[in-house]
Amino acid sequence: MTSDPRRAIPSTDRLLALPEVIAAGQQLAPHIIRRTITEIQASARRGQTAPDEVIPRVVDAVQATHTTNLSAVLNATGVIIHTNLGRAPLSEAARDALHAAAGYVDLELDLDDGKRSKRGTWAKTALLAKAPDAEDALIVNNGAAALSLATTALAVAQGKPEVIISRGELVEIGAGFRLPDLITSTGTQLAEVGTTNRTTLEDYRNAISERTGAILKVHPSNYWIGGFNSTVETKQLATLADEQGLPLIVDVGSGLFTPDPVLPDEPTMTQALRDGADVVIASGDKLLGGPQAGLLLGSKTVLQTLARHPLARAFRADKFTLAALEATLNASSTPVHDALHADSKVLYARSQRIAEALNAEVVPHEGRVGGGGGAGVPIAGWAVSVAEEFARPLRTGSPAILPRVADGRCLIDLRCVPEADDEVILHRLREIAAEVEG
Ligand SMILES: *Cc1c(COP(=O)(O)O)cnc(C)c1O
Repeated sequence: MTSDPRRAIPSTDRLLALPEVIAAGQQLAPHIIRRTITEIQASARRGQTAPDEVIPRVVDAVQATHTTNLSAVLNATGVIIHTNLGRAPLSEAARDALHAAAGYVDLELDLDDGKRSKRGTWAKTALLAKAPDAEDALIVNNGAAALSLATTALAVAQGKPEVIISRGELVEIGAGFRLPDLITSTGTQLAEVGTTNRTTLEDYRNAISERTGAILKVHPSNYWIGGFNSTVETKQLATLADEQGLPLIVDVGSGLFTPDPVLPDEPTMTQALRDGADVVIASGDKLLGGPQAGLLLGSKTVLQTLARHPLARAFRADKFTLAALEATLNASSTPVHDALHADSKVLYARSQRIAEALNAEVVPHEGRVGGGGGAGVPIAGWAVSVAEEFARPLRTGSPAILPRVADGRCLIDLRCVPEADDEVILHRLREIAAEVEG
């Protein structure tokens, strides 16, 4: 009888007793270690791994396994709010706040008298300090939740299911996600008015009936309509809404408080409130530069109606969001703001230093705001241009670096890279250059 090579495969008990596996078990859950072992044993049984390779492979695998598989990425694309990279990177202050919030915190407790207090008071205070035109505020999970809550609580829940919206503002945010589908999913009906390119105040007025619960204005964050077009200003809509006793909901999308000269067409929460919106909606992780959150700012009565609706509980922000949002709002700046306002001369000098060390070239490169707003607005900057073959090793190396690939070149734009990481990028580029050329 020929001996079965599969008998030589080390047993699970033997593998579990390896000192390296025991050491890995200090960090990793038993089921993760067992799964790794089982997979490698199975590969040996299929003849894909030699029996004497099983032990070294198990040791390598458990040592390479981490409790989280999410990798930090250096964003060298020049796209500031990159949805695939988790939108806004947080400030140091917000990162510290997240860490502090990880344990027990006085989220709903007044340490002074030891009694229960309101949840998220600090974040709300910070928000209202930034937006003094608002009487009250509510923080929910994201912009989509804020919009869903506002339309549901102000229309359907009041027995008036219709919300009036311009056909020019039926937005798809991305990845097939459409705001009209979101709004109607809770029973709200959309009364669409006007045409794609033109909507007038009369269109809104004519659509008002006893079924109307609210008027909604949505900023088309990721597209713009040029040419023969007209939209109705918030101010005019506010007058109409007041006349008819209807709430006006304005979704500005991106969460700027005050105008930014770099993005002249981006609406602000402050202006929408001054123009008479009853409630303004924005995201926390776009131009505001904070964690994922949905911000609702506006009049006391409307905000109370929203806070009392059952969906407010389903959509409520967690302690991490509240902590990071408060810190973002109270900090002097955010990485998003800094990237948007990066000095072109400094970017050029940083790019030039890397390019010189590599014998590469610096080329003009247009950055973008990205998923957060500023649709179509180019942000003039620079990129180090290297061969396209650099892109994959940059992405898959450590740390992961995401460049932009365009016209057969790999472009490294430092706008969204902290200056302290220039050295890391240069080091990786040198390593890859040695491999590519060697
Ligand atoms: C991004 C965006 C949303 C959705 O916000 P999330 O925070 O991504 O849920 C809603 N409305 C507008 C106008 C937006 O730009």
